[in-house]
Amino acid sequence: MAGKTIAINLPNDEKVQLQKGTRKLQLKNAMRAKFDKILVPIADVLIAPDQRQYITFDAFFSNTMFHEVAHGMGIKNTINGKGPARKALKEKYSAIEEGKADILGLFLVDKLNEMGEFTETEMIDNYVTFMAGIFRSVRFGASSAHGMANMLRFNYFLEKGAFVRNSDGTYSTDMGKMKIAAARLTEKILKLQGDGDYEAAKAWIEKDGLIKPQLQADLDRVNDAGIPVDIYFIQGPEVLGLK
Ligand SMILES: [Zn+2]
Repeated sequence: MAGKTIAINLPNDEKVQLQKGTRKLQLKNAMRAKFDKILVPIADVLIAPDQRQYITFDAFFSNTMFHEVAHGMGIKNTINGKGPARKALKEKYSAIEEGKADILGLFLVDKLNEMGEFTETEMIDNYVTFMAGIFRSVRFGASSAHGMANMLRFNYFLEKGAFVRNSDGTYSTDMGKMKIAAARLTEKILKLQGDGDYEAAKAWIEKDGLIKPQLQADLDRVNDAGIPVDIYFIQGPEVLGLK
């Protein structure tokens, strides 16, 4: 079954995007359900107890909103004559573009914090909720562009020390290192898209686009806790009273 959408940024066509922009839509009821039934329960298993206070619906909402805003920004066409980034990166494009939207979105929140639009606490909320969001999205698996993007990011953050795994099996976000890692990863992805470097995208995905044993063991604990991967809609003619 396909994942249940929580936000949309359309159209995907680069020509239309550059001429007319895009329209963003947030499905707040679906977001609320995923926050209450999936994200918070995951945080209770995998986020360090002293950081759980930073898991907030507002941060989840802004992470998602800036993900969509970020889709509408950035590089649509390569800078070296390879045409649209979408064409140059072929089947790797979707995972790379979803990864861009996630991390550029977080980078935007960081910039807004520097501009005084987000308080320091709201910034921390955004970082920690974003971290919990990785565990939520990585469960969609490698066949989903979103799942793949989250595997790449989890492994990147691990390498850069943006989080540490504690001896009790929970994760703590390092705000300072997360800030630096977010900026560097944004740079890495935008460069990849601007260069239309298919080989680099392929090599990166082959190396880090997978769930390594430690993370898999932690995700098994989430599954064992009975936390669903996605929500289901109760819908159809019966619900509408047409049957
Ligand atoms: Zn997206």
